[in-house]
Amino acid sequence: MKDRVYSTSLDAASIGETVTVTGWISKIRNLGAIRFIDLRDRKGIVQLVLSDKFDIDLRNEYVVKASGTVRKRETPNPRLKSGEIEIECESLMVLSKAVTTPLIIADETDALEDTRLKYRYLDLRRPVNQNYLDIRHKIKLATHEYLSSQGFIEVETPILTLSTPEGARDYLVPSRTKKGNFYALPQSPQIFKQLLMIGGIEKYYQIARCFRDEDLRSDRQPEFTQIDIEMSFMDQDEILSLNEGLIKEIFSKSIGYEVETPFKRISYKDAIELYGTDKPDTRFDLKLVDVKPILHSSEFNGFHAEAVKAIVIPGAAPTASRKVVDELSSEARKYLADGVVTLKMDKARQLDGSIMKFISIGMENSLIYTLNLKKDDLVIIAYGDYMRVSYFLGALRLKYGKELGLIKEDKYDFLWVVDFPLFEKDVEGSITSVHHPFTRPKEEDIPLLDTDPLKVLSSSYDLIINGYEAGGGSLRIYDEDIQKKIFKILGLSDEDIKNRFGFFMDAFKYGTPPHGGIALGLDRLTMLLGGTDNIRDVIAFPKNLNAICPTSGAPAPVSEDQLDELGIEIKREDN
Ligand code: ASP
Repeated sequence: MKDRVYSTSLDAASIGETVTVTGWISKIRNLGAIRFIDLRDRKGIVQLVLSDKFDIDLRNEYVVKASGTVRKRETPNPRLKSGEIEIECESLMVLSKAVTTPLIIADETDALEDTRLKYRYLDLRRPVNQNYLDIRHKIKLATHEYLSSQGFIEVETPILTLSTPEGARDYLVPSRTKKGNFYALPQSPQIFKQLLMIGGIEKYYQIARCFRDEDLRSDRQPEFTQIDIEMSFMDQDEILSLNEGLIKEIFSKSIGYEVETPFKRISYKDAIELYGTDKPDTRFDLKLVDVKPILHSSEFNGFHAEAVKAIVIPGAAPTASRKVVDELSSEARKYLADGVVTLKMDKARQLDGSIMKFISIGMENSLIYTLNLKKDDLVIIAYGDYMRVSYFLGALRLKYGKELGLIKEDKYDFLWVVDFPLFEKDVEGSITSVHHPFTRPKEEDIPLLDTDPLKVLSSSYDLIINGYEAGGGSLRIYDEDIQKKIFKILGLSDEDIKNRFGFFMDAFKYGTPPHGGIALGLDRLTMLLGGTDNIRDVIAFPKNLNAICPTSGAPAPVSEDQLDELGIEIKREDN
């Protein structure tokens, strides 16, 4: 429509102009002789004034086109960009009518998420949601611009493919032409991006859709988007610094936040030791301390466990009632730590707690000195398996960090966690990859593959922003023999390797450049930049926690004919 303007382009300087606006009616105030209308468009809200010469039925969410003269508003609304003016309508046309909407379309809405997602097209009219999609778009734009400027090209990889080993369950698509066979939707473009390196593309990226059939959480969706990057002939430092440049550009272009580089780095080992997690929120201190050296000779059996670690909660002693301490114990049990004890720094230089009968004066002094204890500090000591104790205290650290207001919310904090182990044991005790099977072991650890694979470290890195894993990647194996060895350690037989990865292993034979890459989570970045902790807010049409698309109702049954064509018979059905 010619001459159409957005609400936000109108201000005091527009007074006297004749303009045309379009949008949805957000609110009507009827004063008899005059009607005031809040018109919502893509960018904001502007007030229309309708004299009683307009004998026209108007309701909320009608789509209208209005033309008129901009005039000064008698009672300005400082919350609106166009709050100083209003449009005195000369014409108003209803372009489309609307029935009463099932949710209030405003930032403040009391609608349940289920309702919002069912009517997502209405929910998306809420300015807050428009803003998330706007930020998401700006992140993508900055990514395209920055990576292109660094010599990267975007290449699309297949969606109908074979299973990619990122460790989750696959989404499968039955084949009609080869009945009884299935495509898998990619958990990531991992294999193809490595093949692109072998194909000489050298610098690849893709804003790539990935599919993982996992239990869902507030920051996880079955289909999600990665900024997927791979490059040849670059070492780890070069890859990290390229990514720092990308993040800097993304933050600056999407929300105008200036990021300082280089980012801090911490090894996986130190992250677990000091923060009890591989994604530490380093916006606040409150580190875990190994107190086993101080307490190991105590007669208390718990202190002889593999790990005895402490965290000090400043000033929390007076409010740590019996109830709080009991809660800590039940929390510790959830983490399968053997146990937890608390000590209070009651007087200026004295510790108090039932466990004190097992703590000598020397130990007490050492604790006070090492933990730098002050009056009213609460000391929480957990003991048991090293990882479980660390995770437990890491969770407490976060909880208290939030509760005590130690986290500076106006600041973004960037951290690389590096040198992850190559393997870990899963719940059943089998060896699995910490990242994925293509991750390159550290050169110096290669001999350990034969003797003690769980000790092997990898050339890998995760990007952590404010305690969120925003991305992760690694240098890749580019030697066929090492790749084979890794598959074998993961329990794959020669037959499995040939069937699942034969095409990939073949490619290694024809000249493979050293390469590495990363994938950044576009959804999580948008959450961080938009300031929401719900991933569904930043995806136009998300799935709910049951992996259902509430808007379309997918997944849904299909006709007998379709099943027949695919050679499929349903054995079990959920309604
Ligand atoms: N493909 C990996 C992932 O999706 C990331 C990478 O290693 O580049 O987590």
